[in-house]
Order: sequence, then structure tokens, then C-alpha cells
Amino acid sequence: MSNIVAIVGRPNVGKSTFFNRLIEKRQAIMDNMPGVTRDRHYGYAEWCGKFFTVIDTGGYVTGSEDKFESEIRKQVKLAIDEAAAVIFMVDCRDGLTGFDKDFANLLRASKKPIFVAANKADTPDKTILASEFYALGLDGEVFPVSAENGSGTGELLDELVKIFPTEGVEDPDAGTPRIAILGRPNVGKSSLLNALLGTERSIVTDEAGTTRDAIHSRYKMYGQDFILIDTAGVRKKGKVKDDIEFYSVLRSLRALEECDVCIVVIDAERGMEAQDVNIISLAQRQGKGMVIMVNKWDLIEKDSKTSEKFRKEILEKLAPIDYLPIIFASVLNKQRIFQVIEKAVQVFGNKTKKIPTSQINDAILPEIARYPPAATKGKLIQIKYITQVTARFPSFAFFCNLPQYIQESYQRFLENKIRENFDFEGVPVRLIFKKK
Ligand code: GDP
Ligand code: GDP
Repeated sequence: MSNIVAIVGRPNVGKSTFFNRLIEKRQAIMDNMPGVTRDRHYGYAEWCGKFFTVIDTGGYVTGSEDKFESEIRKQVKLAIDEAAAVIFMVDCRDGLTGFDKDFANLLRASKKPIFVAANKADTPDKTILASEFYALGLDGEVFPVSAENGSGTGELLDELVKIFPTEGVEDPDAGTPRIAILGRPNVGKSSLLNALLGTERSIVTDEAGTTRDAIHSRYKMYGQDFILIDTAGVRKKGKVKDDIEFYSVLRSLRALEECDVCIVVIDAERGMEAQDVNIISLAQRQGKGMVIMVNKWDLIEKDSKTSEKFRKEILEKLAPIDYLPIIFASVLNKQRIFQVIEKAVQVFGNKTKKIPTSQINDAILPEIARYPPAATKGKLIQIKYITQVTARFPSFAFFCNLPQYIQESYQRFLENKIRENFDFEGVPVRLIFKKK
């Protein structure tokens, strides 16, 4: 079991405050993109050289009292499923409540190590109140803490990290594809997300109707881990239509920035529209992986040539971008929706792969010899060797005598040869010409 701790407890005891305190330091390192506020229910923390993941189950409890019972069960189930340990948070100032007792009973059955954090013990006189929670009858100590000013948290964390068998990993998301679902309003983004949520388990799911900006949800499917960045669930109420459009564009831009691969959903009945082309060229400039999902395919009358005709139309609008996978799907009929995800994960693989230098040279140098760059101003242009350089997306350095004379048409030729020899479907490829 990996180093994961879940924070559970009834609303308003201070779970989120504590969560933010734990992940604060690490998050600052992780969120190196300015202006991006990430709203997550899980984050990464470090204590005494051990790295661990914290789940804030508090994000689940949004509902009214009558929903409460089921919410408790959901939180506890989540904690049991995912976590190696549980921080059970209670409130010193409220004292022991009936809900706390219900919680404790469910937790006891989980057989997971439980750390009772008696929160809001801001001052020594409040700390004394914490002993009341021994009446819950859970094994182990009760830790008086103050999520707000930090007192007592060290003692709790000292004990908590002892149960983690390993040092953990600094960034568990490294190497996990972050996938964003983008597209114009009404193309079926939320439907796609719901279809995925309905069938597969995620560590962190979200209630509909939240007003968060970008929700990162971790999934496991086909034995693959990935993170979905969802912006479709955001329901900002705009007064006028322009407002809604504005927010939808803003959210897309933000999700695009945060993702590795985006699924651009288009409506089969409307086809590829100007805004879709804009998003795709922006994604290309940012070096993002892409999959085009033509949704609502069920609404189209088809014969054997229909999808080919669609494909051609899309590619014409996207020219010169011609390397994107296009999948015809119907969320309504659950047709090919997993294939879309599968493809996105595959594109991520293309985006992150590294071709050994010898393989590139063996494949591309003979092509160059067959069709060398045209001499410019009487000078012979020689490309000596090629290597893939480390970058956010596949980038190749061509070392040559006169890099400034390589023409655009020749660059396109080289890119095509790279794509013919190696699979970079769905990802932009950058060519850099260097003097040697
Ligand atoms: P959650 O619903 O359990 O996630 O609780 P929140 O983290 O949202 O906190 C509920 C309220 O308790 C907020 O108003 C916090 O400012 C407050 N709070 C959280 N921790 C402390 C604490 O250590 N001391 C005091 N006095 N207030 C706190
Ligand atoms: P979003 O605005 O992109 O999140 O779009 P929604 O998911 O809210 O979907 C907009 C409308 O399209 C809803 O009425 C959906 O039921 C409908 N819809 C979504 N996917 C499909 C599909 O594959 N086929 C058909 N016929 N309708 C769909």
C-alpha cells in the first residue's frame, strides 16, 4: 500500500484547512505555472524526508443533512479503498458529537491505522478538551492540533509517517498523462465525463454543480493511470450568452495549459468550427498532444464513405496540421468512448518517447542523401547528424553547416520523414537547425 493518507470527518471540523497546511509547501513547488490555481482534493506532502499523498475527502460533503449518512459512508469507503492511514478529524470546541461516533464506528471496522486529530486546539486551554475524544474508543493517541496555526501538527505527522514503509515518491503524478476534454458548449464534454465516471472508479470524483475551475481526477483504466482535467463541470452563471462563452474559452485555455494531451470534442452535425481550429492551433503551438473526437456520430446518416468524407473535411480545415487521430464516437450509444481515452494515452506515449540517436540517423540520413536540401546562393547544404533533444514535446536537432538556409518546404519534408519512420501520431514535432 502506497503512502496515502485520507482526512475524514464531518463538515466544518477543519479538514480542508489541515489539508492545505499539509500540501502547502510541496504545492508551491509543483504549481510552477503562474496564475494557475489548482483546486484538487488530493495533494502531496512531505514530512521528515517521507513523501506522501493526502486525500481531502471533505470535497465530497456538500449536501444537506439527509445526504449526510451516505456521504459519511462514501468518505469512509474512499479512505478504506485508497489510503494506508486515516486522519480522523474532530473539533475540540464542539466536543464529541453523535456524527463523530458514527464515523468512528465505521472507521474501526476498516482496520486501517487511525489518527484522531482534535482540531481547533489553538490555545493550551483548548488542548485539554482533546482528551474527551478518547471516549471514541479508537486505538492510539488523540492529537490536539490547530490546522489554523499549526500547533500540534508536528507530533501527529511524526507518528503518521512511521506507518509508511517507504520514503515515497516526490511527484507521484510524474509520468501520468494529464488529459483535458475541450470543445465548444454542447458538444458533449460533460456527457463524456459522466460516461467515464459511471463505469470506472476514480480516486477523486466530484459532485456536479461545483464552481471549481479545473478539477483533476485520477483514473485507472486498462491498467493505465491518467488524470482527467475537467472543466465541463464548472457552472459559472453568466448573465448573458457572451459571458458564458467567455468563461468557456477561459476554462479551455486553462485546462489546455495544464494538460499533456487534449481531447478536442466536436459535434458531428456542426463539424469543425473556427473556434475548434483556434484551440487546435494553440495546442500545437504549446506542444500538446491531441485527439479529435467527433461526437454525436449517432445523429449522422452514414454509408461506407461517410467517415472518410468527414476525415477529409476536418483535415482540410486543419491544414497543414495532418497528424491528429480522429475518432468517430457517440457518448449516447457508448460507442468508442474508451477508444478515445486509449488513444489519448497512446498519444501521451508518443509525446514522451525518446528515439535513440543511432535509430534517427539510420532512418533519416539516407532520406536526406536521396533528396538533399537545395543549394542556396551556390552553397552546398549538408546535414551531418540528428538527435532528439530533451523538451516538453518531441524536438529534433539537425546539425548542419548552414542552418539558416534550410527552407520551410524542406523542413516539412524532414518532418514527414520523421513521422513516416516513427510514430508521433497526435503530437507536434519540432525541428531545430544548429550549426556544426
Ligand atoms: P472542513 O469542512 O472540515 O473541510 O472544514 P474547513 O477547513 O472548511 O474549516 C471550517 C471552519 O473552521 C473554517 O471557518 C476554518 O477557518 C475553521 N478552522 C479550521 N481549522 C481551525 C483551527 O485550527 N482553529 C480555529 N479556530 N478554526 C479553524
Ligand atoms: P457540453 O456542454 O459539451 O458539456 O455538452 P453536454 O454533455 O452537456 O451535452 C450537450 C447535449 O448533447 C446534451 O443534450 C446531451 O445529451 C447531448 N449529447 C451528448 N453526447 C451525445 C451523443 O453522442 N449523441 C447525441 N445524439 N447526443 C449527445
